[in-house]
Amino acid sequence: MPIILNEHHSSGFSLNWTVDKVLYQQKSDFQQVAIVELQEMGRALVLDNIIQVTVKDEFVYNEMITHVPLFTHPAPEKVLIIGGGDGGAAREAAKHESVKQVDMCEIDEKVIEACREYLPETSVSYDHPKVNVITKDGVQFIKDNPNTYDVIIIDSSDPIGPAVELFGKDFYHNVYNALKEDGIFVCQSESLFLHQNLIKKVYDTISKLYPITKVYTATTPTYPGFLWGYTMGSKKYDPYDRMDAEKQDLQTKYYNHDIFKACFALPNFIKEVLESN
Ligand code: SAM
Repeated sequence: MPIILNEHHSSGFSLNWTVDKVLYQQKSDFQQVAIVELQEMGRALVLDNIIQVTVKDEFVYNEMITHVPLFTHPAPEKVLIIGGGDGGAAREAAKHESVKQVDMCEIDEKVIEACREYLPETSVSYDHPKVNVITKDGVQFIKDNPNTYDVIIIDSSDPIGPAVELFGKDFYHNVYNALKEDGIFVCQSESLFLHQNLIKKVYDTISKLYPITKVYTATTPTYPGFLWGYTMGSKKYDPYDRMDAEKQDLQTKYYNHDIFKACFALPNFIKEVLESN
């Protein structure tokens, strides 16, 4: 008998998913961790009843959160991913020839354990020679590593549970300090339809810290509201100056260099949110 996973979001938006099989279910110190087989989207990592990644569409999010900042920087060498325990963003970052080291700081060992066993499509990165898997709280890790990284990617879950602080001003300030003087930051900033207050708050905070702040988008079917936002803060490099720069060709399923150019084009309703007082 299939089970229905009712994914209920604080915005009042709910999604129902048909689950054919539960493959892993454990309560960690931080959250309920599960791997399920969804009828439509295949295997998925589920934290506290919210889908994080599915094998069918993870590539959209993981490629977009990674390649856009990494191609905005002309020669990134050291990359930090906060969260991202499924390994998908690390898999993408390791593809860049210039990148020598990818540190992935995931708070929850059980996420690593579950993904290693059941999500090889993303967790393949754990054993990549460039990737270091660190199981620590990203909030503390960032404070302990000033002036270290070229690019920092905040691949967090929604702002609930252990991820609440990853959306706070103090954390963003510490991320700024952990970047080198020409570093770039990116975070997932939720749905352009459902989380406009959050997008605006993140944008205002980031644009006070960085001279160049951009929001970009991609459509991801498993995330509520579908049209997903990413906020990028850059100390030096403007993606518009990098549009026609020569870039490495990568094996990807969603990202290409035309998408790099297109993803910064925002619909008017979002421009209004970002420009409002
Ligand atoms: N792509 C997904 C999305 O947008 O829904 C998110 C990926 S999920 C793998 C995010 C990860 O961030 C989770 O595994 C969670 O355990 C981790 N995380 C949450 N709070 C954290 C913290 N304070 N430090 C490090 N990792 C954290």
